[in-house]
Amino acid sequence: MSTNQDEHKETTDQLVLQNPVTRYESLEAPKQHQPEPGLDKDLEPKTDRGQYSYRGTGRLEGRKALITGADSGLGAAVAIAYAREGADVALNYLPAEQEDAEWVRDAVADTGRKVVLLPGDLAEREAAVELVDQAAEALGGLDILVNNAGRQIAIEDGLEALTDEQLEDVYNVNVFSFFRVTRAALKYLPAGSSIINCTSIQAYKPSPTLLDYASTKAAINNFSKGLAEQLAPKGIRVNAVAPGPFWTPLQVSDGQPKEKLPKFGQDVGLGRAGQPTEIAPAFVFLASAESSYVVGETLNVNGGMPTP
Ligand code: NAD
Ligand code: MG
Repeated sequence: MSTNQDEHKETTDQLVLQNPVTRYESLEAPKQHQPEPGLDKDLEPKTDRGQYSYRGTGRLEGRKALITGADSGLGAAVAIAYAREGADVALNYLPAEQEDAEWVRDAVADTGRKVVLLPGDLAEREAAVELVDQAAEALGGLDILVNNAGRQIAIEDGLEALTDEQLEDVYNVNVFSFFRVTRAALKYLPAGSSIINCTSIQAYKPSPTLLDYASTKAAINNFSKGLAEQLAPKGIRVNAVAPGPFWTPLQVSDGQPKEKLPKFGQDVGLGRAGQPTEIAPAFVFLASAESSYVVGETLNVNGGMPTP
């Protein structure tokens, strides 16, 4: 594991009683900017994706998961947690994110689980089908699908400044790829499988700078509930996770107006942004057989922001 990502070495084990206000420091991020896609390797300060704090307890033993956007941020935390819970994982990401993806693979090398790296651009229609076929072949099947990839580009000058290109690109990745990847995965998913879609607090509380992004997240919530009804009779559960403010590369690659970065996440009940590993247990719960009666739910993980 590369040493420049070692900041959270002293972080308390996830299963030890601790005060959630102080589990992590409230971050004061320096002003920074990265081109899209942002990389965890260049993010300041570094995050806890569970590399030191996530301890598996066998909840996904023998499972086979495909995770999109799995190289960094929340997807990386989910990948680390899944592997430590005993699952083999296939990780999708953009080719430019190879280094981050290799970092995730190295972080779980000691689990002995299979980690398959599958770079590919989900904005391309055919990529979705290819990705799913490659994942199923490499893992010898598929019983967890996590649609997590997403783009978020803040526009500070109003709706007039939102280009058709951005509107279509964001919908293509955030919404259409979820439909396409899921549709391609159905033929592999046996009864007992779980599909988990990453939505957002933005689905209910849209920021004025994020109209396109926020509306994709509302669409994902709706898609998740409808698909959950469609697939429940087949024994496939569909649920969603709605993160609040988490410190990830998405935020520094135009996901937020730059002046908002230093205080990012401080307006939630806990007074601080989330660290990616703090979302992982929600994705583990919804993937695991223990949540067998949880269907069409959106689990909010947002540090204390009321949701409908
Ligand atoms: P992130 O940048 O680490 O992850 C987003 C990932 O999306 C990238 O790593 C990239 O691999 C993937 N992606 C983007 N365009 C792609 C494309 N064309 N093809 C394939 N993959 C592509 O940031 P994150 O914050 O961990 O984001 C993960 C998910 O969480 C996103 O859906 C995001 O909307 C959602 N979310 C994040 C927050 C937050 O505060 N960080 C809050 C609510 C929701
Ligand atoms: Mg990334």
